[in-house]
Amino acid sequence: MILLTPGPTPIPPSVAEALAEPMTPHRSAGFRAVQEACDSGLQRIFRTESPVLTIAGSSTAAFEAAQLSLIGPGERALACVCGKFSARWKHVYERWRDRAGVEVEQIEVPWGSAIEADAVGEAVRRNPDTRVVTLVHNETSTATASDIQRIAATVRSEAPEAILIVDCVSSLAALPVETDAWDIDVVVSGSQKALMLPPGLGFVCLRERAQERLQKLSDRSLAPQYLDLVEYLDAWPSRSSPFTPAINLVKGLQASLKLLEEEGLEAVLRRTRERAVAVRESFSAMGLELMSSAPSDAVTAIRYPAGVDDALRRHCEERSGVILAGGQGPWKGRVFRFSHMGWLRDDEIVAGIDAVADALSDLGFGADSDLQRGRDVARRQLASGVR
Ligand code: PLP
Repeated sequence: MILLTPGPTPIPPSVAEALAEPMTPHRSAGFRAVQEACDSGLQRIFRTESPVLTIAGSSTAAFEAAQLSLIGPGERALACVCGKFSARWKHVYERWRDRAGVEVEQIEVPWGSAIEADAVGEAVRRNPDTRVVTLVHNETSTATASDIQRIAATVRSEAPEAILIVDCVSSLAALPVETDAWDIDVVVSGSQKALMLPPGLGFVCLRERAQERLQKLSDRSLAPQYLDLVEYLDAWPSRSSPFTPAINLVKGLQASLKLLEEEGLEAVLRRTRERAVAVRESFSAMGLELMSSAPSDAVTAIRYPAGVDDALRRHCEERSGVILAGGQGPWKGRVFRFSHMGWLRDDEIVAGIDAVADALSDLGFGADSDLQRGRDVARRQLASGVR
């Protein structure tokens, strides 16, 4: 089986071994050492000197924790919406509109488009009392990446009071994320994408301005106890956690961070990009259409040719053991998504491309010469692959 979904992604053997280690108590010197190694490893991957808090919960728990810990009743947020996950962050605040008077503005672009910095600048100028801006780096539902570096600079200059929370759930360790250099207040990620772990851990990097806001916010009634980041930040210096951590997932994290460090983050990003280019060029050579106007290097979304639907994915799974993701929301049944992040080899990427070409041929779509060209492009592109 070759898992090419954009989360969960394949688990490396050394991570699987760490996950299966015997249980140890979390309030022990041994576990604190594991947590400490993970904390500093995470800081290197997030490219930050600030604390990266670990929450037992999926990425949504981590993002919601940031959202609800950093806003008070009656305050205003701006949600930048470009797909399913960015819309989720808008809904999180909308739930608090009636109960706590949270005001939610949004800028929304069509699926497949990126958020533009100018639009964010205009929106925060219109509402200078904006306290939080939510943004997704790699919108996994549309395989589209926004330029978070430019957007962060715009928020900083146009809305100095606003805290920018960026969802890097499917971009961390797949696309460049420079938390400190790009001056992003809060970066959130999760375990089951390019960090090569099972689902179940969420991460929140809190930079100084966000920490100050957390401490200063006079009414923190929106943050539920389990998701109150004050609790996690207080526990961070002693390498402990306010609640029972997901002990073996943290042990797995230590193993996955070790792999990332051994290969080197730059090399990981480079090979992810090389595979993204190979995938995009192969499918384009087959005559297929890419869905995104700002394609991400973490995952590619490809439109099914007219007359083809999720039968293609079923065919890939049944005949070739290749598991692709389908479309979400308005793209359901219209696209398939092919991940290139995480623990994958070049030959698995090529096998995924071959599986799609075989399925198209068997289902009676695509000229043989085009399909062959697509297969050749993949092989040529990846001939100089990193591993
Ligand atoms: N944000 C992005 C960009 C995602 O891709 C996902 C999951 O696919 C999430 C948030 C939600 O993550 P989880 O399902 O771990 O809560």
